[in-house]
Amino acid sequence: MDQNHVEGDLELDQTLYTEEQITTRLQELARQIEADYEGKDLLLVGVLKGAVMVMADLARSLERHVEMDWMAVSSYGSGTQSSGVVRILKDLDTDLNGRHVLIVEDIIDTGLTLSWLITNLRSRGPASVEIATLLRKPDALQMDVEVRYVGFDIPNAFVVGYGLDFNERYRNLRCIGTLSPHVYL
Ligand code: 5GP
Ligand code: MG
Ligand code: MG
Repeated sequence: MDQNHVEGDLELDQTLYTEEQITTRLQELARQIEADYEGKDLLLVGVLKGAVMVMADLARSLERHVEMDWMAVSSYGSGTQSSGVVRILKDLDTDLNGRHVLIVEDIIDTGLTLSWLITNLRSRGPASVEIATLLRKPDALQMDVEVRYVGFDIPNAFVVGYGLDFNERYRNLRCIGTLSPHVYL
């Protein structure tokens, strides 16, 4: 199946970014990251589950050694609205003291989850904490969170694929797209 041209039972309304476009953009970010962290150790922290694909592809685009660790967090809130009240479901295995940490995210929407995460990680004595996200929505710009590496700024639509889910489905699509309304209406 050619997942870049998803139709029929996968029900994508519109492809926003193809696998190729994602790969190209991650390569560009990788070159920036290599330059910025030259001579420094680097720990990538992926936020489960959405960041699995970005982490895998970004890490493999980097022509240098990195360590990878994972966190799972759950944001309390009503429905799809995130509240900024966050609970750690799976913590890091790594001691952050003195480490250069790069948080790897799939998407920043309100940015509430992320700003909580940054405060949490900064309290652990790292040398630095920066953020890389594949996607960012306009609302995130209202948060006082500086995001160093952004793949794409996207409109305020609900997107799936490349790690992003709707009810735990669509994460395994190679592209990123919007859902047809009849899937969720
Ligand atoms: P924030 O705290 O930035 O509002 O929440 C970010 C999280 O909300 C993301 O990690 C993701 O799980 C979810 N999210 C936000 N926007 C979208 C979207 O367009 N599609 C999907 N599948 N998840 C989203
Ligand atoms: Mg995420
Ligand atoms: Mg989700």
